[in-house]
Amino acid sequence: MNIIDRATIDKIMSAANIVEVVQEFVTLRKSGVNYKGLCPFHNEKTPSFFVSPTRGICHCFSCGKGGNAVTFLMEHEQMTYPEALKWLARKYHIEVKEKELTDEERQAESTRESMFIVNEWASGYFQRLLHEHEDGQAVGLQYFRSRGIRDDIIRKFCLGYDLPSRDALPQEAIKKGYKEEFLVKTGLCYKRDSDGRLNDRFAGRVIFPWFSVSGKIVAFGGRLLDSRTKGVQLKYVNSPDSEIYHKERELYGIYQAKRAIAKENCVYMVEGYTDVIAMHQAGIENVVANSGTALSYEQIRMLHRFTPNIVLLYDGDEAGIHAALRGTDMLLSEGMNIKVLLFPDGDDPDSFSRKHTTEEFRQYIDGHQTDFIQFKTDVLLTGVTDPIKRSEAISSIVRSISVIGDQIIRATYIHDCSQRLGIQESTLISSMNKFIRQQRADRRQAAEREQEAEERRQEEALAQQTAAPARPAAPVQRDHRQEVEMMIVRLIVRYGERNITVKDEDDCPVTLPVAEYIDSDMAADDLHFQLPVYEKIRQEAVAQSADKDWTAENWFLHHHDVDISKTAAELSVERVRLTKSLQKDVDEETLRERVIHLMADFRLDYVENRMKEIKQSLNGVTDADTMRSLMEEFSRMQIIRNALARQLGNNIIV
Ligand SMILES: [Zn+2]
Repeated sequence: MNIIDRATIDKIMSAANIVEVVQEFVTLRKSGVNYKGLCPFHNEKTPSFFVSPTRGICHCFSCGKGGNAVTFLMEHEQMTYPEALKWLARKYHIEVKEKELTDEERQAESTRESMFIVNEWASGYFQRLLHEHEDGQAVGLQYFRSRGIRDDIIRKFCLGYDLPSRDALPQEAIKKGYKEEFLVKTGLCYKRDSDGRLNDRFAGRVIFPWFSVSGKIVAFGGRLLDSRTKGVQLKYVNSPDSEIYHKERELYGIYQAKRAIAKENCVYMVEGYTDVIAMHQAGIENVVANSGTALSYEQIRMLHRFTPNIVLLYDGDEAGIHAALRGTDMLLSEGMNIKVLLFPDGDDPDSFSRKHTTEEFRQYIDGHQTDFIQFKTDVLLTGVTDPIKRSEAISSIVRSISVIGDQIIRATYIHDCSQRLGIQESTLISSMNKFIRQQRADRRQAAEREQEAEERRQEEALAQQTAAPARPAAPVQRDHRQEVEMMIVRLIVRYGERNITVKDEDDCPVTLPVAEYIDSDMAADDLHFQLPVYEKIRQEAVAQSADKDWTAENWFLHHHDVDISKTAAELSVERVRLTKSLQKDVDEETLRERVIHLMADFRLDYVENRMKEIKQSLNGVTDADTMRSLMEEFSRMQIIRNALARQLGNNIIV
């Protein structure tokens, strides 16, 4: 199903800049001709994720994931192919003319995509109510303005308003053709117990949409207005977890903040929606909120891909201080540098900003950040004289220091603490080492448990395999054939357009592109690749190689067929650093030998398998004619095999 036409796909493919696309999710630093950053697909503290702008691909040398701009988005954002294309089209201002979908095609749209579409519509609906409906203007807009929020900021965060009636939104949505199923799945509505009718979850609230890091609306937060907050109803209501929204993976404001976070190399962490908005209004855009709970590992890792520096902003009251201390060891152990900023008199960024000018607000933020360990020492030890409490506090501080990965930073903190607390450095160090040993033991145990679980899984898989009917082909043989096929296809992808000179049947030299040679050599014996995608690549390569300007690698890496471009990306980077593989300086002679050698290897493999098959067939044959013809084929294969083996033996390539 392709709902976007080929010309548009090609336009999108050539506009997409891999560095810009990846940078939407990871801060990249220049590294030679490439860029590198922390891999968004696995957890790491030193970068092994490379992006090659010249080749238009990215690749992680640790976990192996990557691809071109489209496959990167599909993998990282769990987008479908059309979703990824549309996302890129929006980014590069390319108009997408979508075909009118048939019912069947609409059915096939993924659930996730349908949920995003419903959320997108709902956000537009809430915004229209806020700006155009008279209740929205009188109640919602009035509320935001009374909180000092400027109109441009209201637009920037797509704030909205929902009518008090619980039926209005579902009725409007159904009328517009959105399915009940997705209204419920996104959490916009829930079913009434009594009669199963749909109820609007956010009725009568002002609306704060949550954008994912890629700019899709994943959830909504709704706040009751001041006059109605009395009584039992909750002041804030959020979308429940769903297929597109996992509370512990999202951060409010990340989409609007990510550029500034990368640019400032720092992120401010606040508590609520309005704090984020107040900061933006003061011109500080590198700010996110996670609504109360402690940060999860997923959230920390997402931030870490943009910057290692975080400043926690909290009210200066008891609760705020407690919140600031919560979950901080997790940040430290993930390699983040933490600073803390407390507002005076129980103010939060929102309330503080309303009492001061923008300039004063900014100055306060710049001038009142404290190093985290120092902050923790001050909070836990100021005025504490009870020896047991003091010892507990010191222990907690040392534990925080012990989770920091960098040895030099740890040593510096220990030195500072020793000075400030008047405790011998050696005492603190031995206490810290105890913590470190404990953490290592814990990690080892966890790793062992994981290892045991893995072994169990493998044993079970093996048991299942043996229980299943025996397969005829030996697995070792199959692996070798796969390997050879992969290497041949890699030659097509990387060097398909390059000319080599070989001898034809009459021993005359002919010059032809690698892709064509491989294809005709296979066709001569009616050989095929086992993987369908390899066959697709082979056929395309032959068709394209007639074109003088064709370069195989570029063509395949950005192919509109995701199957092909993904395979090409894997083949083109595997086991080779991007920097090295950039040099396509294999000379013709080496290339020619490599091609011929691999083709001989491929054929040898085929011949040996065929010989085995013949032997097996011979066992059951009683008919003399069949037996004779099988024997003849066998001896033909034997001759070919010996010739191939000789050729390979003489032609060993290192
Ligand atoms: Zn990785």
